[in-house]
Amino acid sequence: MHVIVVGAGLTGLQSALSLREKGAEVTLVEARRAPCQGASYSCAATLGDETPEQLAPEAGRLARLRAMKSSDEGLIYSPGTALRYAAFVSALLQNRAPEKTESRRALLSQLSDASAALLRERAERYGFDLQESAGTFTVLTAEECRTHKAVALEDILTIEPSLYAAQDACGFLLSRAATWSVSYYAKQLKEYLIATGVPVLSSREAESVLTEDGRAVGVSAGGEIRGDAVLLAAGTGAQALLPEGALGGAVFAPITRSLFNIELNGAAHRIRHAVRDPEGRIAVPLNAFLRIMGRWHLGTAEQCPVNDEYKALWAFGIRLYPETADWSQGRYLSQTVLSSADGLPVAGATRVPGLFVNMAGGIHGADFSSAAADAAADAVLGRDNAFGPDLAFTRLG
Ligand SMILES: Cc1cc2nc3c(=O)[nH]c(=O)nc-3n(C[C@H](O)[C@H](O)[C@H](O)COP(=O)(O)OP(=O)(O)OC[C@H]3O[C@@H](n4cnc5c(N)ncnc54)[C@H](O)[C@@H]3O)c2cc1C
Repeated sequence: MHVIVVGAGLTGLQSALSLREKGAEVTLVEARRAPCQGASYSCAATLGDETPEQLAPEAGRLARLRAMKSSDEGLIYSPGTALRYAAFVSALLQNRAPEKTESRRALLSQLSDASAALLRERAERYGFDLQESAGTFTVLTAEECRTHKAVALEDILTIEPSLYAAQDACGFLLSRAATWSVSYYAKQLKEYLIATGVPVLSSREAESVLTEDGRAVGVSAGGEIRGDAVLLAAGTGAQALLPEGALGGAVFAPITRSLFNIELNGAAHRIRHAVRDPEGRIAVPLNAFLRIMGRWHLGTAEQCPVNDEYKALWAFGIRLYPETADWSQGRYLSQTVLSSADGLPVAGATRVPGLFVNMAGGIHGADFSSAAADAAADAVLGRDNAFGPDLAFTRLG
């Protein structure tokens, strides 16, 4: 079986690895000059979260009615973006109904567990460094400090001295969920695949899927590239390649997250834990750097208030670690990924025989990437997979 995988970001690379491990031959087709220049270029993700965040968190009927216009929790959007992505917002709100969130909760933790186990196992087998943090602290609001069993700052400082400046936080929660560097992992995976002879055809933008007798047989990318099956893992570029109706009536939308990378000064305390603020921004330690990532906004970077988000990232960093870096330096960036309306990836078959997808992973596109890649690879190879039905496009109606 020779599989053409379109897109060489984290999703395409993970899919290629799963396919290789299961015995298939793979060719990666990438539009840019090199792999991993898209969303996977600069992010970090969570590893082993027992209660992963829902893109569509539970909301009662009144809250769902209000959120038809705008939302300032979970996924953030304004009246303008809500109107622009009306079909997506409507599907998102249906997914916020309590009966839907309840049944999704268990699935999210199973995906998180399975992906963390696979990621760690592969990191060990191939010698990849995940740049893992020791865990995650969540800063609590004053209200949460009254209702949760919070850990006080003086106790935190014995295991995380770098937080000495966080005196105004009333308390923290410590979770075993670690963070890992998606960009560094993807870079190592790319190098491993190339070294083991997987062809990566760079600067080859797929323009369309080739079909014969209704079956996908390759892609057109400045010339024909043929195989036995095609797997689309092209991030925000996946939708344009899908033949009409290939995923039924499923709706997707772009969502954007900003980040701020700053180099730590050598004399600073070593930072070992990630820290999440009450609004969902997170500071992630990566060896000599700190990466601070913002909230998820509906829309492309041009449609989102990225400058306000950059200010908030800077303010969060300087408040936690005032003397750790030169805060006038640092690099700001915003990147966009595609999301389904229930916040889970779509991995598996399409309605076109021979054409498969691994796409729209959204806020958990990296967290669940190992399990989704395995599900996509099993679908291509006609094998059963425990997550196959949960990640199939058919769940989206
Ligand atoms: C700041 C930030 C923070 C994030 N935080 C988290 C997190 O905490 N947890 C989490 O799980 N996820 C997180 N994510 C999301 C996660 O990083 C993405 O889901 C993941 O990196 C997406 O990988 P991808 O391969 O699907 O997309 P990309 O990395 O964008 O790769 C897609 C590739 O396909 C190529 N391509 C597109 N169209 C074509 C075409 N026609 N022909 C050939 N090639 C094509 C592109 O050039 C690109 O290389 C975050 C993302 C960002 C930006």
